[in-house]
Amino acid sequence: MGHHFAPVTSLIALVSTVLLLSASVHGSQGDKEPVYRDCVKQCVRTNCTGDRLRGFQSTQPPYMALTGWTCRDDCRYQCMWTTVGLYQAEGYRVPQFHGKWPFTRFLCFEEPASALASLLNGLACLLMLLRYRSTVPRQSPMYHTINAFSLVSLNAWFWSTVFHTRDTYLTEKMDYFCASAVILYSIYMCCVRTLGLRRPGVSSMVGALLILVFTSHVSYLTFISFDYGYNMAANTTIGMVNLLWWLCWCWQNRRTLPYWWKCGVVVMLLHGLALLELLDFPPLYWVLDAHAAWHLSTVPVHFLFYSFLIDDSLHLLNTEKTGVKLE
Ligand SMILES: [Zn+2]
Repeated sequence: MGHHFAPVTSLIALVSTVLLLSASVHGSQGDKEPVYRDCVKQCVRTNCTGDRLRGFQSTQPPYMALTGWTCRDDCRYQCMWTTVGLYQAEGYRVPQFHGKWPFTRFLCFEEPASALASLLNGLACLLMLLRYRSTVPRQSPMYHTINAFSLVSLNAWFWSTVFHTRDTYLTEKMDYFCASAVILYSIYMCCVRTLGLRRPGVSSMVGALLILVFTSHVSYLTFISFDYGYNMAANTTIGMVNLLWWLCWCWQNRRTLPYWWKCGVVVMLLHGLALLELLDFPPLYWVLDAHAAWHLSTVPVHFLFYSFLIDDSLHLLNTEKTGVKLE
C-alpha cells in the first residue's frame, strides 16, 4: 500500500518544513521596538509603584486579579495598541508582540475567539461522550478505551481554554503537553482497534512505548529546553503516525464496514484543518486569527468522529455476539 501514500508523505515533508521555519520565536518585531519598550518602561514607572499601584489594585475587577493580570501586563497591553497605532499611521504592517498578534482583550480573556472556540470543542466532546455512553453498552470491547480517550481530550480542551484566556509559562506548557497526549492516545486507540482486540499484549507494549515517548517529550521540553521548533516537529511526526495508521485501517476495512468513510473524513479533516495554522495573518477585527479559525473549524468534526465511534462500537458488539452464537 506504500505508493498510495506517496503524495501524503511528500505533503508531510513540506508541511513539517514550513512549520519548522514558521515556528514562533518569542521575541517579536513589536516588542523590540524602542517606542514600545520606552512606553512600557514609562508606564510601569508611573503607574505600577506606590500609591498609583495601590489605586490600580483597589480598582481592578476581581476576575482580572484572579486571572493574574498585573499592572505591568496592563502597561504592555496599552503600549501594544499605542505602537500598533503608530505603525498603522505610518502605513507599516501590523507587528507581533511577544510572539503573538495584537488581540482585543475581552474581560480577562487574552484571546477571546480562541478561548471560546476551545470551550466549544470541549463542549462538543462532552456532549458526544454523553451520547456515546447512552448509546453504546459497556460490554462493547472499545468502550473503556473510548471513554478514556474522551477524558484525555476534555482535559486538553480545558487547558486550551485556560491558555487562550491567560498565557503564562505554566498554562502554555499545559496546553502543549495535553494536546500531545491526545494525539498519542489516539495512536493507542488505533492500536487497540487494529491489533489489540485480538492480541492484548501488543496494545500493552505499544501503550508502554507511548508513555515512554510522552515522558521523554515532556522532560525534554521542561528540563532541557523549550524548543518551539522541536515541539512542532514532534507533534507533526506523531500526528502523521496517527493519520497514516487510521487511514490504513479505514482503507483495509472499506468493503466490510459501511461507516469506514466517517473515520477517513475525520482524520483527513483534522490533519487538513491543522494547515490553517500556516496562514499567519493579523487578526480580523483584532479578534479572529488563523489559530482561532483552526480551533473553530474542528468543533463540528467531533460530531462525525463520535458518530464513527458509536457505529464501530455497536458493530464490534454485534460481531462479538454472533461470534459467541456461532461457537
Ligand atoms: Zn490553541
